Amino acid sequence: MPANPTVAFIGLGIMGLPMASNLVDAGYTVAGYNRSPQAAEKLAARGGTAAGSVAEAVRGANVVITMLPDSPDVESVLLDDDGVFANAEPGSLIIDMSTIRPDVARDLASAGVRHHLRVLDAPVSGGEAGAIEGALSIMVGGEKSAFDAAAPLFDVLGTTAVLVGPAGAGQTVKAANQLIVAGNLQLLAEALVFLEAHGVDTAAGLEVLNGGLAGSTVITRKGEAMRNRNFEPGFRIALHDKDLRIVTTAARDAGVTIPLGAQVAQLVGALKAQGHGGLDHSALLRLVEQLSTDEHR
Ligand code: NAD
Repeated sequence: MPANPTVAFIGLGIMGLPMASNLVDAGYTVAGYNRSPQAAEKLAARGGTAAGSVAEAVRGANVVITMLPDSPDVESVLLDDDGVFANAEPGSLIIDMSTIRPDVARDLASAGVRHHLRVLDAPVSGGEAGAIEGALSIMVGGEKSAFDAAAPLFDVLGTTAVLVGPAGAGQTVKAANQLIVAGNLQLLAEALVFLEAHGVDTAAGLEVLNGGLAGSTVITRKGEAMRNRNFEPGFRIALHDKDLRIVTTAARDAGVTIPLGAQVAQLVGALKAQGHGGLDHSALLRLVEQLSTDEHR
């Protein structure tokens, strides 16, 4: 791997665009590809280049990063005839930073070996703000040598990058992350509606709660927007619904019972079914309000 590797970045959405932009700012040569081309043009305006296809982005790259919505998207981008594995230089490092199923991540790593590629699963936590600030937490599964090679890039994208185990382990830790975040958001939503019903100043209430054992990054990052009913994403309900399916399935596969997680999964699924899949996951508050208000009164 050269000292300053060339990076192909595929998937320039809420997370991918600021992450790719941070790599540009750190001096990397970055070729971006996104299904809707406007996003790649935005990267070009930030000093990267816009590629017209996956193959074009990957050509000449030493590192390929994917930041796509779901397992089928990553499978297609990596495995298709015109995809990453068919076009990457042997020895390249492939880092999937999307949140996908752990079993899919394991299969992709095995397929990568057959193409003489090194594959890491490296999902992230920290949200859009973490992506913009280069302050993500990165949970990595794969070989130690590949993790070491990726470490300088992780230093740009995040503040914490930990190799948590072999291929797929990063996604398993991310599934646990999504379980904890969903539960936190739901309880914060319930607490806010409860405080408001009692006429409490919720700005003051959240400030003091955040200084004690109830304090959390969820309060810090989402509390104010929830008070203001600002549910611009952020992290879309549709994506958290996808993640909670991963959690509930993986827990069941392992014979683990997650009663609270299963309930929050139902609530997130209900919001999506109501047509709110495009709102931020903090819109769980809407459901608490609906459940607490008698429309017919
Ligand atoms: P997003 O929908 O904003 O971005 C995904 C991008 O991928 C879109 O721009 C879309 O056009 C592009 N895309 C989809 N299919 C493609 C294809 N076949 N080829 C090229 N481009 C394609 O989603 P996001 O919020 O950036 O999330 C990306 C991943 O990161 C998801 O797996 C999500 O669960 C995870 N994640 C998101 C957050 C967050 O706060 N948004 C936080 C942590 C992890």
